[in-house]
Amino acid sequence: MTRSIGEALAAARDGSAQEVATAAIARARDDRWGALLHVDQEGALAAAASVDTAATEGRAVGPLAGVPVVIKDNLCQRGTPTTCASKLLEGWVAPYDAHVVERLCAAGAVIVGKANLDEFAMGSSGETSAFGPTRNPCDEARVPGGSSSGSAAAVAAGIVPAALGSDTGGSVRQPAAFCGLVGLKPTYGRVSRYGLVAFASSLDQVGPIARDAASAAALFDVVAGYDPRDATSADAPRGEHVAAVARGVRGLRVGVPRDFVAGADPDVRDAFERALDRLVERGASVVDVALPHARHGVSVYYLVATAEASSNLARFDGVRFGLRVEGADLTETYERTRARFGPEVKRRILLGTYALSAGYYDAYYLRAQKVRVRIAEDFAQAFERCDVVATPTTPTVAWRLGERSDDPLQTWLQDLYTLPASLAGLPALSAPCGTGEAGLPVGFHVTGRRWDEATLLAVAGALEGER
Ligand code: GLN
Repeated sequence: MTRSIGEALAAARDGSAQEVATAAIARARDDRWGALLHVDQEGALAAAASVDTAATEGRAVGPLAGVPVVIKDNLCQRGTPTTCASKLLEGWVAPYDAHVVERLCAAGAVIVGKANLDEFAMGSSGETSAFGPTRNPCDEARVPGGSSSGSAAAVAAGIVPAALGSDTGGSVRQPAAFCGLVGLKPTYGRVSRYGLVAFASSLDQVGPIARDAASAAALFDVVAGYDPRDATSADAPRGEHVAAVARGVRGLRVGVPRDFVAGADPDVRDAFERALDRLVERGASVVDVALPHARHGVSVYYLVATAEASSNLARFDGVRFGLRVEGADLTETYERTRARFGPEVKRRILLGTYALSAGYYDAYYLRAQKVRVRIAEDFAQAFERCDVVATPTTPTVAWRLGERSDDPLQTWLQDLYTLPASLAGLPALSAPCGTGEAGLPVGFHVTGRRWDEATLLAVAGALEGER
């Protein structure tokens, strides 16, 4: 088991990248959590071999030389299947690399495989995957969270030290919280979405999941940066992310929206309060802030995200990508093909199509966009008094597999704490902060100012020092 990126780097340097890759492939093949959908033995060994050759020849190797990683299966990697855990894309092989995949390869990382997810990244438990659910390595009867279920499980199970996920409304942070890991959703625009299969384009970001803050920072540094192929990619100032982890929190003002936090279960609140105390011991101060519109985040998100998804997923029609189920004519071919979406995806497409239809647009989508602005304004006001806003990542610890499958609304409400930062386009991170009910991990969620991922990583680093 490789626990951190630092350990993997050392193992690849002191032994060989090929040995590290071979061990990671063996662990990936032993996957009993349903974490992976595809293991790329050939590609991983070739990448490792070129790292070893470069090292032998004295050529510079990248900052992730020989580090095994997995990527969520909604990221394109040339020549490998990209399914989004959907029957609709079964058999589709990506013809090009996502921007983040290019970055990983250039940095010397070894991509071992593609991670399971909720179908088209829609879900919070990993159970909507068309290829079977993922189990939480901390307790195999529980869900790992979602939608980056396999990315988190692969790290928690020790298959790889770090993984990439995508986060539209919490899909990196919530599974990180449920599996006791660090998950970072970067500022909207920080990481290029080129080659990420779109879910809700005004929200989607790619982010790292790792066991510790230093590993998350190292992976984030590699994938962040401007890319002209994504129109929303920003040429933002780069931070010193790896160094920030050890910076400490002295003088940091942590804003806590008390009545919002009150919505979490008592065991989660206890762990959250203990983490706040530890930050205060380390020199931070806690101030009260108000996010009066945050409680509308669930309603706003499930309109905006479904509306955008209904439009983005129109392209999966049996003509251009993956699955095609022939019908008597074109319309029937569309219908038969699209009938293969799973129930959660269908629910979202129907809801989003309804919200965007003539006559309803003003009442739903437009109104949701207005409340979205209010949520962003709440944060802007809070940041006049504090440097980060803290809440628990989730209202509860990981639930049992199957426990919530019949109640989509209950599952949607679980996204309460991760959605506001997504809607405001702000960076947010979940760090482990002890345990709640049944000894299960609890996540500490911090939201920062635009481009200030560094401060979030400093908070994660400070909490680790006390673990
Ligand atoms: N759980 C949320 C949803 O189901 C967020 C998903 C995500 O971030 N991709 O939409």
